[in-house]
Amino acid sequence: MSDSFFEGMPLRPPVDPQESARDYMLRACLLNGWTWKSPRKWAVGSPIVRDEESLRRILEPLGPSDVDSLIRATPIQSDRADQLCQPNAVTLPPWSVWSRRWCPACWRADLAAPTGGRAPLWNLKNRFWWSIDAIHTCPFHNTKLNCRCPHCAVVVSWKCPSMITCSGGHDLLDAEPEPVCEQHVLADRYLLGRLGVIEPLALPILDEVNFEAAAVTLNKLGTSVILGPTYLYGAGDRTAECMSEGVRLLSDWPRRFESYIAEIVGAEDAKHRWARDVLCNVFHFVLSAPDRDLGEKMERVMFQEIFRHPVNVERAYEIKWDGGRTR
Ligand SMILES: [Zn+2]
Ligand SMILES: [Zn+2]
Repeated sequence: MSDSFFEGMPLRPPVDPQESARDYMLRACLLNGWTWKSPRKWAVGSPIVRDEESLRRILEPLGPSDVDSLIRATPIQSDRADQLCQPNAVTLPPWSVWSRRWCPACWRADLAAPTGGRAPLWNLKNRFWWSIDAIHTCPFHNTKLNCRCPHCAVVVSWKCPSMITCSGGHDLLDAEPEPVCEQHVLADRYLLGRLGVIEPLALPILDEVNFEAAAVTLNKLGTSVILGPTYLYGAGDRTAECMSEGVRLLSDWPRRFESYIAEIVGAEDAKHRWARDVLCNVFHFVLSAPDRDLGEKMERVMFQEIFRHPVNVERAYEIKWDGGRTR
């Protein structure tokens, strides 16, 4: 039955604390020369495991501490919102459902690590946080997370037959690390700090907000700063840069946010249309912020800055920023 995943599998590599259950099972298949197929049967084909007990039964041959480690890094669906998945109660939407990502520089470091006489692949590992959509870079190497085959450019999915080949059989280990400016990995440093992967980066205004809401807030505000009124269309390739700008905007709360709003509200005529659109977008986000307490804190700053610029108050009211809400 479904708990015999490891039956007949001679090699059981040591579990790494950064591996989720499916990361580990994918690697175990690679090292044993098995094809990774029908993973749904083992309850880990989808990133969201629906039943923790059956996953525990599947992993049981590994021993209790390894099972606990894998469960901690595996998103598990539950009726209780605070346990939707782990670690750190990351809720469902931020987990990548389909594509598989990796940091080519992490893999190179894995392959160069001592193996105690085993083949270099013995140390090659996936990290659970590569599967979190909100994370775009590797702060250990300042590189972009890769999701495409270096040969055919096809997006690598969890349906690929092996950890290191695309669906066309090309070698994913050939992927070159793509450097990212150090300034642009700031958001991922913050998010990984929250997940316990690296030293936490304090951002008090966001620290009490759940992981998903924090990521969305960094994205929306940072994109607004960098891309201005076009931000509703998303930041695309510049997402890591924009989210990192979100970290800077919310650090030293509320000073930088205040200055940003003051700059928009105080914009002179030439910039007025631009400023009005930005203010409208930011207000729209703040009023529907994924965390109500956070939304209210930002809202207070925005009103305070609007009323500090009496000349512009009338213009501010022209904006349909509150969808008809009257104050
Ligand atoms: Zn890396
Ligand atoms: Zn390929």
